[in-house]
Amino acid sequence: MSNTRWSASFGSSRDCPRVEGERQIQRIAPRLAEVGGIPVARVLPVRERRLIGAWCFLDHAGPADFAPGEPGMRVGSHPHIGLQTFTWMLAGEVLHRDSLGHRQVIRPGQVNLMTAGHGIAHTEESVPGQGRLHAAQLWIALPEADKDTPPRFDHYPRLPAWSQGGVDFTLLVGDHLSHKAPTLSFSPLLGMDLHSPRGAELSLPLRPEFEYGLFVLEGRLALGAANVAENELAYLGLHREQLTLTLAPGARVLLVGGEPLDEDIYIWWNFVGHSRDDIAQALADWNAGAERFGKVEGDNGEPLPAPELP
Ligand code: MN
Repeated sequence: MSNTRWSASFGSSRDCPRVEGERQIQRIAPRLAEVGGIPVARVLPVRERRLIGAWCFLDHAGPADFAPGEPGMRVGSHPHIGLQTFTWMLAGEVLHRDSLGHRQVIRPGQVNLMTAGHGIAHTEESVPGQGRLHAAQLWIALPEADKDTPPRFDHYPRLPAWSQGGVDFTLLVGDHLSHKAPTLSFSPLLGMDLHSPRGAELSLPLRPEFEYGLFVLEGRLALGAANVAENELAYLGLHREQLTLTLAPGARVLLVGGEPLDEDIYIWWNFVGHSRDDIAQALADWNAGAERFGKVEGDNGEPLPAPELP
């Protein structure tokens, strides 16, 4: 997906409020936007929270329902640098095409991971005949040492999944207990989906060296005395050994975490850079049609123009 209601985000987590201890959380309310014709709720980045580990962008797309004959989502050709786009599909099917020549349909329960590195372009569109679309798309900032890594695309059709105590877990990236996801990452990260059809109270071991956030995809959860609503992000900070939470019946939650990326990150439009110059160069290259981004074969739409830096 593409950042269409862009705002500049310059800086690092060092500029954000500290959240310490078991009882403290930072709540982030969603901003509503539209991407490719469907509504999204966005909670990262915001001024008061730029990163969780290397996770630097979080859009919750839909759920959106389409009448028969409606086209669904369509995001035209656009570029990325310096990040991985990470798509977790909950309902519907989306076709990904990129300038390396990949064509991949993503279905519920699957992850698409596009490592942009030095530069790539892609399109995303609903597969015809889909009545519903529901997905989370996140971006993972590449560490400075890997920002120019060659672009690649990986599809993960099956991920570690298990049920315990009334909760269905799917491990999307990283490891948890004895489970290990195959997902390519460039820094220590965790992504896990928790779904509880009937509701549950649970405790999970955490890594004290990771910072974490809980995003509510469906329903609601309780963290101690705090109720966290659908589309809200609860940032949990560092130095927690354990997390205890209550999921309401039908709740679905995304737990994201990672070692703090202690680097200054610049986000503008669909680019993540480590300097303003990284971004300015990418904008100039895209608008000039440079070979850096290639071309998405079979895409007849106009490429999305890049907005100028403020
Ligand atoms: Mn995109």
